Amino acid sequence: MTTTIRTLTRSLEQWAPLAYQESYDNAGLIVGDPEAVVTGVLVTLDATEDVVDEAIRRGCNVVVAHHPIVFKGLKKLNGRNYVERAVIKAIKNDVALYAAHTNLDNVVGGVNYKIAEKLGLENVRILTPKNQVLTKLVTFVPVADTQKVLDALYEAGAGEIGQYSHCSFRVEGFGTFKPEAGADPTIGEVGRDEEVSEHRIEVIFPSHQQGQIMSALRKAHPYEEVAHYLTLLDNQNQEVGSGAVGELPRPLNEYEFLNHLKNSMNLPLIRHTPFRDRPVRRVAVCGGAGGFLLNDAVRASADVFVTADYKYHEFFDADSRIIIADIGHYESEAFTKELIQEYLSKKFHTFAVILAETVTNPVRYFL
Ligand SMILES: [Zn+2]
Repeated sequence: MTTTIRTLTRSLEQWAPLAYQESYDNAGLIVGDPEAVVTGVLVTLDATEDVVDEAIRRGCNVVVAHHPIVFKGLKKLNGRNYVERAVIKAIKNDVALYAAHTNLDNVVGGVNYKIAEKLGLENVRILTPKNQVLTKLVTFVPVADTQKVLDALYEAGAGEIGQYSHCSFRVEGFGTFKPEAGADPTIGEVGRDEEVSEHRIEVIFPSHQQGQIMSALRKAHPYEEVAHYLTLLDNQNQEVGSGAVGELPRPLNEYEFLNHLKNSMNLPLIRHTPFRDRPVRRVAVCGGAGGFLLNDAVRASADVFVTADYKYHEFFDADSRIIIADIGHYESEAFTKELIQEYLSKKFHTFAVILAETVTNPVRYFL
């Protein structure tokens, strides 16, 4: 039994669909042949040259990173900077480079859920759900074929809302049509007006699955021409979006909470805004640079916002409404490695999935 890189990346993308990455991102297979057989996976935050060396040394031909090593366009490849050197080394040694970045930030069970788990938060949910990631399908099916069509749509991923599957709505009515010359109608005959008892069926599905949903519909639907409408919805998808928020099992005072944060995430230090002399119960988190979510954290009534990459003036934005705790970019995402390893080890048994020992944090602390 062997596994190709394509099978590996497909699995990663079922978990963290590329469609959920932010517009500026570059997640996915950055270097590598999808048809190559996986010999081992090295999981890292950053796919630097040292990490590629480690992969070669440890017999891994795939590096799965959180950060895409190629983030903007490369115009030359002559090894002048660390990005080009990593890419050249990977290509020369047949090591594939894959990144699961903001798409892994944006899913339930992703980067931010891992932070929440480390902090022991309960009732964890997405802090800022995304909209325009769901599509509604309306189609018209002869009554006798309704169940067959619905089953095919469910199988392809339609009709899931939160903890519910097989969600649909239908009403019965009459469909009319007249097959013209050249048609090969399932019901009726060419040149004659027809009227058929049909169900109008409605289901929703994640927009990026439109291809598979439509091909399932066309396969299961008995008609030559399948009448349908597709509508992109403005509804939020509670299961896709930025940051996470949850509650501590019992409130801590601010000093206790920062201690808890420091210990549970192995932090050398925390940069934070002044205490407000209020207990900490609800905590919002965002791995990496999460400053853009500050107002959402305040709106969610979080007592503390745990994130990274804050600049001096941005700390003022807390404005006594919340405590910002900047724990460092690398530190905030360090457990993303574990998260990816846990997922892949459960899914695949034909190769090893190991954590990189190379510390890629470019920041050192002189204490
Ligand atoms: Zn990051």
